[in-house]
Formats: sequence, C-alpha cells, structure tokens
Amino acid sequence: MGDLSALPSLSASERTRHRRLREQGRTDREELFAVLGAGFVCHLGVIVDGAPMVVPTVYGFDSDHVYVHGSVASRSLATGGPAPVCVTVTHVDGLVLARSVFEHGVNYRSAMIYGVPRALEGEEKLEALRLLTEHTAPGQWDYARRPNRKELAATTILAVPLDEASVKVRQGPPDDADDPHDVWAGVLPLAATWQPPVTDPLSAREVPAHVRLRAGTRLGGESPGD
Ligand SMILES: Cc1cc2nc3c(=O)[nH]c(=O)nc-3n(C[C@H](O)[C@H](O)[C@H](O)COP(=O)(O)OP(=O)(O)OC[C@H]3O[C@@H](n4cnc5c(N)ncnc54)[C@H](O)[C@@H]3O)c2cc1C
Repeated sequence: MGDLSALPSLSASERTRHRRLREQGRTDREELFAVLGAGFVCHLGVIVDGAPMVVPTVYGFDSDHVYVHGSVASRSLATGGPAPVCVTVTHVDGLVLARSVFEHGVNYRSAMIYGVPRALEGEEKLEALRLLTEHTAPGQWDYARRPNRKELAATTILAVPLDEASVKVRQGPPDDADDPHDVWAGVLPLAATWQPPVTDPLSAREVPAHVRLRAGTRLGGESPGD
C-alpha cells in the first residue's frame, strides 16, 4: 500500500467531528489503517426504500478506498444513483467492569467511513476483488480458482473513498477510581483466535500452508494491551 505515514491525517468534517467521548477520538490516518487491517467484517449502512439498512459484510481496502462486494441482486449494494453510505468496523478488546454499573464500558477500536461509493468494472473490479479476497483469506487469490466472466457479472463491488473517516479507541482500566464501592473492578479482555482448519470431506488435498499456519494466531494480530 506504499508509505501510509505520508498520507494526510484524518481531518474532521462537520459529520466526523467527535462530540461525545472525544478523548477517544484519533486523528492519525495510520490508526484508520490499523483498524481496517485488524478485521475483515464491516457493517455497511445504507438507505433502502427510505429506511436505514445495516448489513454485515466482508471488506478489503487500499490507501484510498474500502471495498465491499456481493450479489448484483443485493439491495444494499444497488447503486441506482450517487447515494451516501456509512461503513463501520468494530473490534472489541475487552469488557470494562467498573465499580459502578454506570461506568461500565468496552475497550475497543472502531472506524466510521462516510462516502458515496462507486461500482467498479473491468480491471478495477478484478483488482478490488483480489484485494478483498487477500485481505479476508490471504493466499487464496493465487490458490483457488479466480472468478470467471459469469461470476464477475453476478458480482457487484463498490469502492467507498476513505476521505471522510473517523477512528475511536478506548483502552485501559475503568475511569471511576474515585468511586468508593468496595467491589472488584478491572477489564475482562477478549480476543478472537483462528482454530485448526476443518477439511471438507470432498477435499483430497492437504491443508495448504497459508491456511494451516493461521491456526492459533489472533484475528488481526496482537491486540492492544498484549
Ligand atoms: C463496541 C462498542 C460499544 C460501545 N458501546 C457504547 C455504549 O453502550 N454507549 C455509548 O454511549 N457509547 C458506546 N460506544 C461508543 C459509541 O460508538 C459512540 O462513539 C459514542 O456513543 C458517541 O456517540 P454519538 O452518537 O454521541 O456520536 P458523536 O460524537 O455525535 O459522533 C460524531 C462523529 O464521531 C465519529 N464517531 C462516533 N463514534 C465513533 C466510533 N465509535 N468510532 C469511530 N468514529 C466514531 C463519527 O464520525 C460520528 O459521525 C461504543 C463503541 C463501541 C465500538
């Protein structure tokens, strides 16, 4: 993706200006790529028939765009015209168990991206599919059969620009040190770990190394606080 540190910082638009819990807001664009790099499922928020629809879906990204894909029949991916969307990515790193219920919270890293997506075609579409596949299932673009013409025609892939994005991060212990209650307080960390692969009974092949070696590793690498 080139030198990400050379990219401009996350400049707040009126929409992405943090209002509540502002101290958790981050302005470094590298933090956006760290959040995007640490997961592969996002939530795509769109307006369909005048009502909000928020769809969980996998994504890929490069320095300029986040890519989401699906069936050409998906209503959430229909681009009948330039319609804004909001993409969120969330990682939960732990439960913050405070002395008071009021101060309970979540340690997290999250990103919100607002933008008007563009449906890709031709070489751009194929490259975005490669990025999305390699981000979600590294090694599979070269290992598995690539999409044929019919499959490509059945697939929509949208590019959402990363121009208007925000990041929030909360880490650390509860914020209620002054609360006098005599109860335990702290953090219950949470991390997702890849499990050993389960071979399809129809598969006559050994598990390839790029799949096998993921077992036991954490989703997105190490979590903050490790
Ligand atoms: C897993 C998880 C659980 C949470 N649980 C709670 C909860 O129970 N109660 C609660 O009050 N808050 C919770 N938060 C924080 C919540 O996401 C909001 O940041 C916070 O509530 C402020 O919301 P707001 O509507 O006032 O946003 P505003 O501050 O008005 O939002 C302004 C702009 O800030 C940016 N922004 C806001 N929130 C986020 C975010 N999380 N990530 C990236 N950019 C953001 C967006 O660009 C947004 O348009 C949680 C966050 C996560 C990730």
